[in-house]
Amino acid sequence: MKIILLGAPGAGKGTQAEAICKHLSIPQISTGNIIRAALKNGTEMGKKAQAYMDAGKLVPDEVVIGIIEERLQEDDCKNGYVLDGFPRTIPQAEALDKMVKIDKVIDLEVSDEAIIARMSGRRVCEKCGATYHLLYKKPKAEGVCDICGGTLIQRKDDHPDTVKARLEVYHKETEPLIAHYKKQGVVKRVDGQEEVADTTRLTLAALEA
Ligand code: AMP
Repeated sequence: MKIILLGAPGAGKGTQAEAICKHLSIPQISTGNIIRAALKNGTEMGKKAQAYMDAGKLVPDEVVIGIIEERLQEDDCKNGYVLDGFPRTIPQAEALDKMVKIDKVIDLEVSDEAIIARMSGRRVCEKCGATYHLLYKKPKAEGVCDICGGTLIQRKDDHPDTVKARLEVYHKETEPLIAHYKKQGVVKRVDGQEEVADTTRLTLAALEA
C-alpha cells in the first residue's frame, strides 16, 4: 500500500508512520530525515537546505521532488511505503501524481495550541536521529539515546518561534493538499489523541476502512 501521512509539523506524523510501517512491513520515507542526513554528511544538497530548515521554511520543491524521485526507485519500495513529510505543496503533490498512484492519505488533525505545547518537549538524538519526547516517549536515561547512547538535543526547528513559522507555512502551503487528495477519494481523517497508542489504533483502523 502506498500511503501519505499528512498533518502539521508536530502532529505526530513520524510516530504514526513508524507504527504503520511496522504493521505493514513497508519502509518509512521521510524527506525531513533524508535532508537532515544530507546536512550531517555535509553534502551540497544538505548545505543548501540548512538555511531553509533552520528558519522553519520549506526547502525548494525541485530539491525534495528530486529526493523522492530517487528514493522511490529503490528496491524496498516495491510493496509500498509511507511518505512522511512529503508532499508539502501542491506542486510536490502534482509531481508525485505523475510518479505513482497513492492508495491512502491519512490526515492527522491536531490543534495548533496542542502542537505548540507538544513540540517544546521533543528531543532528538544528535548521533542517530532517533526521536523522543519528555512526556510521551521518554528515553530510559534522561538526555541519552536508548539506541546508540548519543546525546538528546532540541532541534533548532522545534524552538517555539520556529514552530509558529512552520505552522503558518503548513496552513498556507500544505493544508490545501487535503482538498487535492479528497478529489482522488483517498483521504481518511484521524484526530490525534492525548495517548499515542489511541491515535495509532485509529490510524491503523483508517487504513482498513
Ligand atoms: P520534518 O522533519 O518533516 O518536519 O522536516 C523538517 C524540515 O525539512 C522542514 O521544515 C523543511 O524545511 C524541510 N522539508 C522536509 N520535507 C519537505 C518537503 N516535502 N518540502 C519542503 N521542505 C521539506
